[in-house]
Amino acid sequence: MLLGMPTVLLVEDDHALRDVVARALREEGLTVVTATDGHTALASATEQTAAVVLDIGLPDADGRDVCLALRARGVRAPVLFLTAKDAVHERLAGFAAGGDDYLTKPFHISELMARLRVLLRRSESTSTSTRSGLVLDPSLHALSRAGQTMPLSPTEFRLLAALLGRPDEVVRRRELLRAGWPDGAIVHENTLDQYIARVRRKLQQVGATDRLETVRGVGYRAVSS
Ligand code: CA
Repeated sequence: MLLGMPTVLLVEDDHALRDVVARALREEGLTVVTATDGHTALASATEQTAAVVLDIGLPDADGRDVCLALRARGVRAPVLFLTAKDAVHERLAGFAAGGDDYLTKPFHISELMARLRVLLRRSESTSTSTRSGLVLDPSLHALSRAGQTMPLSPTEFRLLAALLGRPDEVVRRRELLRAGWPDGAIVHENTLDQYIARVRRKLQQVGATDRLETVRGVGYRAVSS
């Protein structure tokens, strides 16, 4: 349950657009927290965050990676992506990254408000607990824990975020292929296993208690011990 005013985290690097959207949200009685890049967005998500309006083209990171990192940290608030692109694969990748809706620029502010209202109604619990102390940084594509940092490739980052975002759940191979290679590249099935093996080694290297279990023939599951 949310207490007090729902807070919307607005992440947009375009000053003019950010001001227009922020004003419209405040006129609706919402509390608005703004961020202009992915790094600040991650730091700004709190338990009060009821929804996130997230630009995909940020100066330091892809908004979809920011969304994955938020999910991996346990942020469950619905995410409405803003993007200048309208390609079909972009849409699919947006949803694979854990986004809830998608708006293509330019858009009318009333359309954004209508969609956001739907998402806010759907928004339930919004905790931001950091699962077992692991932090995924979408701008550096890095994994860190207790002061130890390990760089990840963009694909490793996306795979790990997809798994950590759904703890204890089996994520199917097909979903992982889509998450890891959002631009629709055709990759050999074995490639996925090789990437998972690399991510496992990196988890061990930062002393993570999270493990990626193989569910034979189905997919993988992130468990914490
Ligand atoms: Ca932008």
